[in-house]
Formats: sequence, structure tokens, C-alpha cells
Amino acid sequence: YVDYNQKIDYVFKIVLIGDSAVGKSQLLARFARNEFTVDSKATIGVEFQTKTLAMHNKTVKAQIWDTAGQERYRAVTSAYYRGAVGAMLVYDMTKRQSFDHMARWLEELRGHADKSIIIMLIGNKCDLGSLRAVPAEDAKEFAQRENLFFMETSALEATNVETAFLTMLTEIYRIIS
Ligand code: GDP
Ligand code: MG
Repeated sequence: YVDYNQKIDYVFKIVLIGDSAVGKSQLLARFARNEFTVDSKATIGVEFQTKTLAMHNKTVKAQIWDTAGQERYRAVTSAYYRGAVGAMLVYDMTKRQSFDHMARWLEELRGHADKSIIIMLIGNKCDLGSLRAVPAEDAKEFAQRENLFFMETSALEATNVETAFLTMLTEIYRIIS
């Protein structure tokens, strides 16, 4: 329950990164508005959405940034990462290449972001299980090695989307409070 007249105690900036078409915008739409669009267009323009939640008697505003169709290596500007306390590193579990690119997205993130940023690796589109191209074990191993949280999600079926964001927000809250 959130009292919208209450003052905001914290604003947490979270950035979404990963290759084009892995489902970043749909994950955000699912979390922020509980929506999903089948034929979503590539995101254009700088965009973020907010969601206000109650956490431990405090009001937290999650400000979640979505890449503006700049999902090429080094095309995301440093302004995008500035002030971020959390990052979702998203790949499509049916596209091996999008997972193989996680290492360089991580490198780029670590080059720009604060040292204490909380990072979660997200394997999206788990509703397409029969097309899986990335074993969960591979992702878990990578996450463990790099000290990331890991979750498989489906923006389409709303699987683990809220859990992923809430896990991240809880962890951020734990660290800053
Ligand atoms: P972005 O470029 O990373 O922002 O990707 P989008 O959110 O625009 O999604 C790219 C495509 O994948 C769109 O056609 C979406 O409908 C589709 N998509 C996104 N999330 C899922 C998912 O969880 N499951 C399935 N089956 N399709 C998804
Ligand atoms: Mg997008």
C-alpha cells in the first residue's frame, strides 16, 4: 500500500541494458504498468518510468531507465549510467549471442557506474522454454563468477518480473539504509 501524498524517501535509479529485442522495454512495461505489447517497436528517445512502492515504512520511487535504441557497444552514453544504483543486464534465453554479449555489457557498465551498483543478470523469454539456447547453468556460473544476482523471467507471462525488480530494490535498500 502506497500513500501517494506521502513524501518520497528514496529515489532509486535503475538502468536496463542488453542487446536490442531481448525484451527490456516489455519487462519495464510489465513491472511499471502490468502491460505487454506483442509488436513492440524499438524504443525511441530517452525514456524512464517510475513506480512508487512502500518498503519498510519508507516510500521508495524506482526510476527505471530504458535504452533509447542505442543498444550497440559503446553507444549508450555515460549520462544513462550516471547515478544508477541498480542495473538489469538482460539477455534473451533463446538467443545465445545476446548472452555472449553480457560480458561486454558488464564491462561497459562497470566502466561507467558506481562501484557499489547492484547488478542482476536476467534471462528473459522463459515462456519460450522449448527454444532455450542458454542453459540456466551457464548463466548461473557467469553470475556467480561476476557476483551478480540471476533470474529467468517472462515479460509475456509475467513470470518473475516483479520478483526480479523487488529483489533488486530490496538489496539496494539494504545497502543504502
Ligand atoms: P528491447 O529491444 O530489449 O526493448 O525488446 P522489446 O521489449 O521491444 O521486445 C522485443 C520483442 O520481444 C517484442 O516483439 C516483444 O513482444 C518480445 N518479447 C519481449 N519479452 C518477451 C517475453 O518475455 N516472451 C516472449 N515470448 N516475447 C517477448
Ligand atoms: Mg526497447
